[in-house]
Amino acid sequence: MSTGDDFIPFCKPSFEEEDIDALVRTIRSGWWTSGPRVSEFEEAFAAYAESRHAVAVSSCTAALHLSLESLGVSSGDLVFLPAYTFAATAEVILYSGAVPVFLDIERDSMNLDPAQLARALEITVSEDRVGAARDAEAEGLLAPGTARVLSRSEGRAAAVIPVHLAGMACEMDSILPVARRHQAAVVEDAAHAVETRYRQRKVGSIGDATAFSFYATKNLTTGEGGMVTTDDSDLAERVRRLSLHGISKDAWNRYTASGSWRYEVVERGFKYNMSDIAASLGLGQLQRIEATAERRREIVRRYTAAFSDVAAIECPRDDQSGVHAWHLYVVRLRPENLSIDRAEFIERMRERGIGTSVHFMPLHLHRFYAEEFGYGEGDFPVAEGVYSRAVSLPLYPHLTDAEVGRVCSAVREICAEHRT
Ligand SMILES: *Cc1c(COP(=O)(O)O)cnc(C)c1O
Repeated sequence: MSTGDDFIPFCKPSFEEEDIDALVRTIRSGWWTSGPRVSEFEEAFAAYAESRHAVAVSSCTAALHLSLESLGVSSGDLVFLPAYTFAATAEVILYSGAVPVFLDIERDSMNLDPAQLARALEITVSEDRVGAARDAEAEGLLAPGTARVLSRSEGRAAAVIPVHLAGMACEMDSILPVARRHQAAVVEDAAHAVETRYRQRKVGSIGDATAFSFYATKNLTTGEGGMVTTDDSDLAERVRRLSLHGISKDAWNRYTASGSWRYEVVERGFKYNMSDIAASLGLGQLQRIEATAERRREIVRRYTAAFSDVAAIECPRDDQSGVHAWHLYVVRLRPENLSIDRAEFIERMRERGIGTSVHFMPLHLHRFYAEEFGYGEGDFPVAEGVYSRAVSLPLYPHLTDAEVGRVCSAVREICAEHRT
């Protein structure tokens, strides 16, 4: 039994003394809201993401919302996303009055299934949506939930939001051409994917816009924060304008340069800008990103080696050419080799002083989506199967070797004690 003082939490933000110094410098500078540190962070992040523009905002949720708004997604439009993701990915679609259309995922990668996306997009342009959706479902080419929502809706396919789950890139070479063919924008949810590369290409330089999260649990954190990257200067400009009350930069230049108090709101905006306090944390984290990414990979190698001969555990794979950001290490339990269920496994880990988590309960199983869109159990069978077995283990740079060892032993012991 763990005493409590040696509890290994599921997550813990990493920081260095230099972060505290940077914060103190920003506080003493007297400039706390968006200013020189935010500009510096945007420039450094754009370079790192190999993207032409980066706009810092208050969260990834804000980044996704502003990307959709700026790309013209509006009421009644269809926006496609995997059912296996965090609440934010779907919520932002609702902000724009659009309809979230969930898709099932691929079992191994846990990312959206490009074949189902292709089929769903074709159905949106078919003369008989109801018939086409029913056929696709009957042939097993589309999950029941997608077919049902598509056959109910008249909207155009406006956008796709691929989510690079756990830090593993989606199959962008399949997703992009299919989206382009249907004039659907591609907004990537890269909340887990700051370091990710898809083949040769850096995530942040691939889709029309990419949204990153700097939430407290993420690989690069500013407590709360986010970033939009894009190669499109008009889009970047619109995101920037919408992030600060729809006040045009031209208006700022025109009036503030002369010391005037005047400014001009040119469209309805939001309040989503990042503070210099947050950006000064982000700059330090970005400078250390290669080192923290290497430490994550080291921990992943130790976990995978420790569990390779444990029948009850299926380890996450990294069989893609590119770079996995390893935001999460999600193991899957094999119920046929284990006499306890997932909830009991998590409880046994807690008794041994180790925090774990579950990523994610598929969105269609949440009450709101069931009531609002008629989604329900059985709609996305692959996502439900993955969810029922998934357990995320602690994975952060400041985990010590001894702590990693304790996690490995705990998992091995529990699986040995409850072997079937
Ligand atoms: C954390 C997360 C978000 C939201 O990030 P915030 O910065 O908290 O808004 C979006 N999508 C996924 C997949 C996430 O894990």
